Amino acid sequence: MTDIFNLRGKVALVTGGNRGIGRAIALAFAEADATVVVAARKLEQLKEVVSRIRENGAEGTYIQCDLRNDDDIIALMAGIEEKYGKLDILVNNSGISPWVTRSEEVTKEMWHDILQVNLLAPFLLCREAGKIMMRHNFGRIINIASIGGIVGLPRQVAYCASKAALIQMTKVLAVEWAEKYDITVNAIAPGYTVTDLTAGMMESEKICNSLLQRNPSNRFASVDEIAGAARYLASEGASYTTGSVITIDGGTLAY
Ligand code: NDP
Repeated sequence: MTDIFNLRGKVALVTGGNRGIGRAIALAFAEADATVVVAARKLEQLKEVVSRIRENGAEGTYIQCDLRNDDDIIALMAGIEEKYGKLDILVNNSGISPWVTRSEEVTKEMWHDILQVNLLAPFLLCREAGKIMMRHNFGRIINIASIGGIVGLPRQVAYCASKAALIQMTKVLAVEWAEKYDITVNAIAPGYTVTDLTAGMMESEKICNSLLQRNPSNRFASVDEIAGAARYLASEGASYTTGSVITIDGGTLAY
């Protein structure tokens, strides 16, 4: 059974693979012997992850890109196909949540900014990756959503809308691409996880206590607890899993 979780010979792209959840996923894939491409804006962090991947004996590379820019997305995919001739695994992990603001104060610019990175870019990446995967009759796409795509988190209207739409997009692509192309498309919906994204919020004891009140595990997730599910979904072990949403939230949504 252990071998079906191996990713040997697979080429994976992890957006936002330079830190946080994406970094943990990139390292977990490398540990499973995948070739890993990480893509984001901050160069030093990208270089650090690639060094770690190579230190561990795997093949890794980075492509600097800003997912707000459509041309960067096209260039990213073209770069991977040119270098490796294929793309087996896409993890749409890059995401932003720059504001925690009452809905009546959310501007059109704020809305567009969040939707651009959290929804439009993942769609364009799925579309372009899908074309490559169709040519090879194989693909694994994993979209990092959030419990905020399932329940309403106050003061995060655009973020929650983007993640709910990401989950729905996951299901449509799963339905379209399953039989003919053997492309699976799944989502992971993490609960609150300790990363830069949540660092500010976690400095407040009051906020932490209120979030943990509805968390049966009474703690936040570590990035490795999210990465394990991504490795599963990328592997042969998940060949019949598509259109699914795996919540990793310590039981929060079950409560
Ligand atoms: P971080 O803030 O630590 O990382 C976000 C990542 O997204 C970074 O790698 C960042 O790289 C990348 N990114 C942001 N903007 C862009 C852009 N314009 N172009 C390319 N890459 C970009 O967050 P997390 O690791 O916590 O979050 C990862 C994913 O998990 C997100 O989609 C988030 O919504 C989701 N999630 C997180 C939860 C949590 O509690 N932490 C809970 C539920 C879901 P760079 O800045 O270098 O571009």
